[in-house]
Amino acid sequence: MNTSKTIVILGAGESGASAARLAQREGFAVFVSDAGPGNPRFLEELRAAGIEVETNGHTAARILEASEVVKSPGIPDTAPLIVQLRAKGIPVISEIEFAARYAPPGTKIIGITGSNGKTTTTMLTHHLLAAAGVKSIAGGNLGDSFARLLLDHPTPEVYVLELSSFQLDGIEAFRPGVGAVLNITPDHLDRYEYTLEKYADSKLRIAMSQGPDDVLYVLADSTTIAPALRRRNPKSQVHTIDAADVREASIVVDGHEFTLGTGQLRGRHNGLNALFAARMALRMGVSAPDIQLALDSFIPAPHRMEVIPTTDGRTWINDSKATNVDAAYFALEAMTGPTVWIAGGTDKGNDYDVLLPLVEGKIHTLICMGLDNSKLLAAFRGVIPTILECSGAAAAVVFAGAHALPGHTVLLSPCCASFDLFKNYVDRGDQFRTAVKNLHA
Ligand code: ADP
Repeated sequence: MNTSKTIVILGAGESGASAARLAQREGFAVFVSDAGPGNPRFLEELRAAGIEVETNGHTAARILEASEVVKSPGIPDTAPLIVQLRAKGIPVISEIEFAARYAPPGTKIIGITGSNGKTTTTMLTHHLLAAAGVKSIAGGNLGDSFARLLLDHPTPEVYVLELSSFQLDGIEAFRPGVGAVLNITPDHLDRYEYTLEKYADSKLRIAMSQGPDDVLYVLADSTTIAPALRRRNPKSQVHTIDAADVREASIVVDGHEFTLGTGQLRGRHNGLNALFAARMALRMGVSAPDIQLALDSFIPAPHRMEVIPTTDGRTWINDSKATNVDAAYFALEAMTGPTVWIAGGTDKGNDYDVLLPLVEGKIHTLICMGLDNSKLLAAFRGVIPTILECSGAAAAVVFAGAHALPGHTVLLSPCCASFDLFKNYVDRGDQFRTAVKNLHA
């Protein structure tokens, strides 16, 4: 038993609640503290387990007595309590670091990070493994946290984990046998002193404890990833993934050509995601024919280039998860004909210049759906023939319906966060989908 050690968990969300239960299982004294009201579902889980929890504020004196603190990824390192804990020499780690200590020996861990494509690639890698009969389970930054996977699924062969940079900021000894860095483009820079280097270094922490038998797959990117790799200098075997291996409707992986045309993986970005997933599946011993079958049957998560079924001869695409410029770049690139583009929301310091060559000749109407449309208007005025403004999904869909002819596409790919008008990107995508269905009801 470890009751001589007290683990304090900051944040009573999915990762905090499950880390607390794992700590309890391991025999630690556990105390959970949340600065806000807490999520009822997780509070109930903690109370049912008999774990002490406080909400609406932190009792600093008690927290500063912890042996170790597991911090929610949402709490920045600059929060005064975190600064105090570090000054006192109390280790502050992420739930990923904590959970990894209790992974059953012999299980393999695949860790996937990047600015965009993490969820898709994590789900796809899991699907390629599971469809071939490998006992795989996916989670981390998507769905169930790593700690919950360990509690609920203690004996898989492979844990496939989506990892955010905030989670990676709190690791030290976490060691995925296979790691992947899909891409690094500007996002969340407010947490990294507005420098891409610091954000990239955070992503490369995935390799910090890897050894010579481990593998790291990274996108061949000379401007951001290559310098960050040199700074990190991992001990693992580093393999680069080359964007040139994404062809028109297929990908080439280790000499095998896989077609993507029959499945639902649309756009060059999904070709890149499939390159990573197929490389990892091949490494795990899945055969090429099994990979092809699984690529054909994969259904991506909603809100990522999701086609909404309609019968009006137009194609309606919900890409609400495109909360940054790079994600919208690939969505716009995937458009092959006349398109109405719905964009806007909370700006993240966006620079739209990279999108200009992609909209010309294709996007005939831009519908700005946000509270602050000024940057979008300034960037695309004179480039996109028709620009309209509205402040809600229902109005955007009505405008789009009036401007898209049969054969045209309507693309919601906002480039921006959703918090000005919606609860989150899921709410934004759901409202869009409902409005499209209502238009056709
Ligand atoms: P994440 O979990 O990293 O946010 P998702 O798979 O949820 O990634 O996709 C987020 C958004 O990024 C979606 O709009 C999706 O179409 C787009 N996207 C997916 N893969 C990539 C990629 N490799 N590069 C750029 N954008 C991508």
